[in-house]
Amino acid sequence: MTGTATPHSAPGRWFPVIGLEIHVQLATATKMFCRCEARYGAPPNTLVCPVCTAQPGTLPVLNAEAVRLGVLAGLAIGCEIDTVLEFDRKNYYYPDLPKGYQISQYDRPLCHDGRFAFELPDGSRREITIQRAHLEEDSGKVIHPEGLDLSLVDLNRAGTPLLEIVSGPDLRSPAEASAYLQAMRQTLRYAGVSDCDMEKGSFRCDANLSLRPSEDAPFGTRTEVKNLNSFRFVEAALNAEIERQSAVLDAGGTVIQATLGFDPDSGLTTQLRTKEEVHDYRYFREPDLPAFAVTADWIEQLRGVLPESPVARHQRYVGVFALAPEHADALVADKALGDFLDATVDAGASPGSAARWILSEVLRLANAAKRPLDELAITPARVAEVVALVDAGQLSLQASRHLATAVEGQPEVAVRELAEALDLLQVSGADELTGVVREVLAVEADLVARYRGGKTELFHALLGAVMKASRGKANPGTVRELLERELA
Ligand SMILES: [Zn+2]
Repeated sequence: MTGTATPHSAPGRWFPVIGLEIHVQLATATKMFCRCEARYGAPPNTLVCPVCTAQPGTLPVLNAEAVRLGVLAGLAIGCEIDTVLEFDRKNYYYPDLPKGYQISQYDRPLCHDGRFAFELPDGSRREITIQRAHLEEDSGKVIHPEGLDLSLVDLNRAGTPLLEIVSGPDLRSPAEASAYLQAMRQTLRYAGVSDCDMEKGSFRCDANLSLRPSEDAPFGTRTEVKNLNSFRFVEAALNAEIERQSAVLDAGGTVIQATLGFDPDSGLTTQLRTKEEVHDYRYFREPDLPAFAVTADWIEQLRGVLPESPVARHQRYVGVFALAPEHADALVADKALGDFLDATVDAGASPGSAARWILSEVLRLANAAKRPLDELAITPARVAEVVALVDAGQLSLQASRHLATAVEGQPEVAVRELAEALDLLQVSGADELTGVVREVLAVEADLVARYRGGKTELFHALLGAVMKASRGKANPGTVRELLERELA
């Protein structure tokens, strides 16, 4: 077989079949089988103990919180939960795995047979199968310092709880794979089971890919691209691998089952090992951990406390709150933002006005302060007060923006008091405004004459003049009514 000569295959000539394995680090305070802190970024080998460094004679003790988060995650992604929890040893040797095996789950994964629905960028809906999601411990890290003829091992991560989520071979394009990953990450974040921070490695994936000549042909031989830690890399790696496999098939060759890495700099996939070298993991039941019962009652309790999913929240925002879809998108994309809206509505604000005001003013304040929403002085209750003043026509949108800064800066002063002190409340009393309108009409006699002469479009100029004369505090609706009456 030659690797040259054949030009790049025509697009669509081969049909990709993609499955993803996602590793999610569960957000426990401590590791899975010992009491060491599970924390990112500590100095090397400072979060270790005899258990996670595999000293002889030590025994694992299961972290119940890891199981709870695993069940919550499984429920959030539409899986069935096994009521018997058993662990197995996956035997292999690597310097970052001092035990010589990883505690994982083999034939009885905690979660199985899921259906996960998500939206594609064009708004269409896809549902794919989740074959399984099982608990396992993470390994440590081997570091190869540049220019030094040695390797270092950091076991801080060893024993951190992971959930490995395995999709069915249901994805049909790199873009679809990326959309699935993003929806999965958002769902898991909403469920509160992981921060899913790709930069810290708490959400990473391996991608399986094969090609076939038509959409109903049997699956081809697949390859696996390991350790993709950004959405962009997943898409780029899959595209690169589609090209590589297409070239092999176009040249009449056969794809060899292999494990690959992706080099973001070259944009190419490179072979790490072929099937012949794939380890036989000699799985067997972990003898140091008994089987645990996960009762159906407990599973139902957890289902009951599972927070609303992003899909359900989006439907509620559009269906119940009647928000514009783009507002709903923005508010759902950031869970904290949606939480802020819900709290503001709970405090009595109308959803549409609250959504608009949060997306403009609250976000502006958060960006200016470079702080997360829950650390701002402006609270949902105070936003609800501002929005109520706007809705009641007592505060113009423009004036509410001035007020936002004051409300954030002086959390101890009541909202209405601030608005009064800053002279921002609108004058909507007809008596007071009639005077202003009459004054303006007197000053703008020329405009009035032309308006009465048939240039009705001058109404807007007059309206603007009255607003200006009131220094923006007049209620535009009232001014319009008064002007119409005075000009009639
Ligand atoms: Zn430990």
